[in-house]
Amino acid sequence: TASLFCFSFAVLQALEDGLEKADADPSVKAVMICGENGKFSAGADIRGFSSPNRPVKSLAALVSLIESSKKPVVAAIEGVALGGGLEVALGCHYRVAHVKARMGLPEVTLGLLPGAEGTQRLPRLIGVPAALDMITTGKHIPATEALKLGLVDEVVEENTVEAAIRLANKVIGQPLGPRRLSLKPVPKLPDMEAFLSEARVRVKKQAQGCLAPELCFQAVRAATQMPFADGVRRERELFMVLLSSGQARALQYAFLAERAAQKWTTPGGASWSSATPQPVRSAAVIGLGTMGRGIVTSLVKANIPVVALEQDLEYLNTGRKAVMLLLEREATKMELGAQTLDFHNPARLQFTVDFDSLRDVDLVIEAVFENMALKKEIFHKLSRICKPGALLCTNTSALNIDEIASATSRPQQVIGTHFFSPAHVMRLLEIIYGRHTSPTAIATAVQLAKALKKVGVVVGNCFGFVGNRMMFPYVQQAVFLLEEGSRPEAVDRVLEDFGFKIGPFRMSDLAGLDVGWRSRQGQGLTGPSVPAGTPARQRQGQRYSPLPDLLCESGRFGQKTGKGWYQYERAGGRTATPDPWLHNLLAQYRDTHGIEPRFIDQEEILERCLFSLINEGFAILAEGIASGPEHLDVIYINGYGWPKHKGGPMFYASTVGLPRVLAKLHKYSEAHPDVPGLRPNAFLKKLAAVGNPPIKEWMSYLSQQSSRL
Ligand code: NAD
Repeated sequence: TASLFCFSFAVLQALEDGLEKADADPSVKAVMICGENGKFSAGADIRGFSSPNRPVKSLAALVSLIESSKKPVVAAIEGVALGGGLEVALGCHYRVAHVKARMGLPEVTLGLLPGAEGTQRLPRLIGVPAALDMITTGKHIPATEALKLGLVDEVVEENTVEAAIRLANKVIGQPLGPRRLSLKPVPKLPDMEAFLSEARVRVKKQAQGCLAPELCFQAVRAATQMPFADGVRRERELFMVLLSSGQARALQYAFLAERAAQKWTTPGGASWSSATPQPVRSAAVIGLGTMGRGIVTSLVKANIPVVALEQDLEYLNTGRKAVMLLLEREATKMELGAQTLDFHNPARLQFTVDFDSLRDVDLVIEAVFENMALKKEIFHKLSRICKPGALLCTNTSALNIDEIASATSRPQQVIGTHFFSPAHVMRLLEIIYGRHTSPTAIATAVQLAKALKKVGVVVGNCFGFVGNRMMFPYVQQAVFLLEEGSRPEAVDRVLEDFGFKIGPFRMSDLAGLDVGWRSRQGQGLTGPSVPAGTPARQRQGQRYSPLPDLLCESGRFGQKTGKGWYQYERAGGRTATPDPWLHNLLAQYRDTHGIEPRFIDQEEILERCLFSLINEGFAILAEGIASGPEHLDVIYINGYGWPKHKGGPMFYASTVGLPRVLAKLHKYSEAHPDVPGLRPNAFLKKLAAVGNPPIKEWMSYLSQQSSRL
């Protein structure tokens, strides 16, 4: 009767007792194992993973016990059989699955490997290529695929338990030896060696510094090289390596952080637990540029009818073509016909230049140029045209939500929905509430994120919100490092070795240098509005680098112009090569400004970039812009290519130790007193002073949630 859904000691004990009783009772001829409430088992409870008394050892023993039973044991798999749940099923002699069941070994995604002999049994059952694929990716497979692979013996559409009992009755008396996977040889391949070495390269490349996929590979390879018992020992060794690597802890943190970040609260007292969303049955997107195209695609994929609006027919045509191309590609990827996505149907996707077409939609997402006057004009129009309940969202990267809302007569329905490029791919949706945004509006945006299969993180309104605000000091340090003697390729290399998908300069080239340039012009930091006599490398008493402005003034906007911090094979090219022109510019620049270039080591590059970003994170927490460090980490993992196996910037800071982060910031700040981003934040200082508490306790040290409202 014990529920198998999440293993606990009690469940394992109950299973063991049941098996022993069955074995001892001569009237029992066969055994059937099933889960409760239509779910076989999702494996161990993730919260128990890192604890010292996790039941892995006893789980392996249980699987062996099942396999060695003298009576046939049949697994009835309904719902899911994941992780340890699937390993239990592999110990059974037969497996029957419901057609809707899914199976997988997702341990790798949590930085581990299937540690209850799964890496040794699965290749024996379904062969090395399929087993390696499942174990190194953690993907879930549907029952029908499991049947093709031979992972299950039978798939049923009706009662799985009854089918399993029928099968058990049928096989009573048949020899069990051939059904015991530990006794079977691993199926041979024509050239196992060649296959394995190719697979290893593939796995390593996809892992990007994450250990678990490589160790999963090694465990499966062990199955091909040694007898079962030795393979099991190897599996256990590799498991222990992963468990103590720190990566498993980071990945489990990241998993739980994503759940924690669903729980939003505002300093005004609104919260996820009390707010109810409005239904979104239709939407509109204004502006079909880089972002609007992806946003439309995302909405169509979520089955939400969309009205797409542009400023004139020419832009509309270009936008429509781009959207159609994206949707065709998505349809192919989803292996659906264009018919199923239904985007040729004007009731599902309509293109227009007429604002009146937005009269009846439930929600509008504005994605026009990053220009306050333009956005205000549009929101003013929307507030006149849209139906009273409609939610008005802006995709601005940094502009003030309150100012945009002030152009409407309904600021309670205005909210920031900050998508990331490409919007139909990136998982993050930063949701920004303004001074007047209603809890319903927040809940509706959160619901929208779910509908789009994205992670919505609710944050407060400030320049750059959370993600970009933390990015500013990071990119600023990267540029300062160039002034002082480094090169774009050196800085990028260090951050990519750390695990970022791309370094800050490659990223700027990809996003377009003109975006920041226009924003700095708007802020009066560069361009004609800068008063005569302003020192080139200083603004308002702080250090400033005009280097990015100089690039833009020479027409170097990054990939789109074929030149930026790197050179590219052509405008729009993607292969970055170091550019002697830029090295030359840097040398001249240092000459002009009397900067003596120095060698900057990897440690300084890493620490100045990361610790300034983390420092800003503490400021954000102290100001109540985000409810906790998990929110910041989820934003960085899903929107900024932060390596998940390092758990997000705030988690990373906790692993480095806050006193160390603080000491380093002190050191760099003393060397660069005119850089506020390096000055240690008071909240960081406080946490270091109270003895570096664990990350989950940080927020309790904020004397009071400072209300910005
Ligand atoms: P873009 O220049 O590629 O596209 C803007 C589109 O808006 C253009 O097609 C333009 O014709 C259209 N437009 C302008 N005025 C209009 C009007 N009055 N009515 C209808 N359409 C109009 O810009 P983008 O990169 O897609 O950025 C859009 C917004 O998203 C900006 O606020 C930007 O800051 C933000 N954003 C951009 C990125 C990014 O990586 N590009 C990421 C996140 C957020």
